[in-house]
Amino acid sequence: MSIAENIARIRENIAAAAREAGRDPGEILLVGASKMNGAAACREAIAAGIDALGENRVQEMTAKLQENAYAGAPLHFIGHLQRNKVKQVVGKADLIQSVGSLELLDEIEKTAARLGMTQDVLLEVNIGQETAKSGFFPAQMLAGAEAALSREHIRVLGLMAIPPAEADRETNLRYFDKIRAIFIDMDEKVFHNKLQYLSMGMSGDYADAIRAGATMVRIGTAVFGSRHYTEE
Ligand SMILES: *Cc1c(COP(=O)(O)O)cnc(C)c1O
Repeated sequence: MSIAENIARIRENIAAAAREAGRDPGEILLVGASKMNGAAACREAIAAGIDALGENRVQEMTAKLQENAYAGAPLHFIGHLQRNKVKQVVGKADLIQSVGSLELLDEIEKTAARLGMTQDVLLEVNIGQETAKSGFFPAQMLAGAEAALSREHIRVLGLMAIPPAEADRETNLRYFDKIRAIFIDMDEKVFHNKLQYLSMGMSGDYADAIRAGATMVRIGTAVFGSRHYTEE
C-alpha cells in the first residue's frame, strides 16, 4: 500500500466514524506522525492531501526542515519538549501540541516574545497520571489553562492527550470520555468556547477517538507503515 492509498483509506474510516457520531467529517484534521520517515515520505503525504505533519523529536524536525520536507503543509510538534530545545521549535512549528507544564509555558512565552510572534499551542493533559509522561494532571488543568491564557505570546487552540498505552479498549474509551470532559470544562470556564482542537487518537484507536469527540487525530503507522527502529 502506498502512502496515498493509506491516507485515502484512513479518510474513509474518519468519515465513517464522524458520521456515526453525527458529525461533519470535514471538521476532523488528519495529522501524519512522520517520525522516522524521511523527507520523501513527508512530501508524498503532503501531495496526498494530509492536513499537517507532526514530529516528536527536535533534532529530526530540524534536519527535515533543512530538507524542506514540510513545504505545503503545516508542521506540528507533538513530542515531549525539553525547555532547552524550545528555541528550536518556537516559530518553526505552526502548532506545538505538547505543552504540559508551567515551566514550558514560560519558556515558550519568553522565546515567542523575543521573536515578536504568537505561538499557537495545545495544552497536554496527562490523563493517566503517568509519572513517565508529560502533561498537566487533570486536577491542574484549569490552572494550566489560566496560566496559558495570561501569556501574551501564546495562543491556546485546544487540548491534546495520549491515554496509557497498556489500556484495553474499554478503558481507553473511558479515557477518551474523560479527556473530552476536561476539554469542554476548560473551553467553557477559561476560553469562552473558542477552542478548536481536541487532539486524541492514533493508528490503533482513531475511530474510537473521533466517536468520542476528537477533531484532530495523529496517525503514524497507518499512514507511513511500521517504523524500523535501529540501534543507534
Ligand atoms: C508516533 C506518535 C503518534 C502516532 O502513533 P501511531 O501509533 O504510529 O499512529 C501519535 N502521537 C504522538 C505524540 C506520537 O509520537
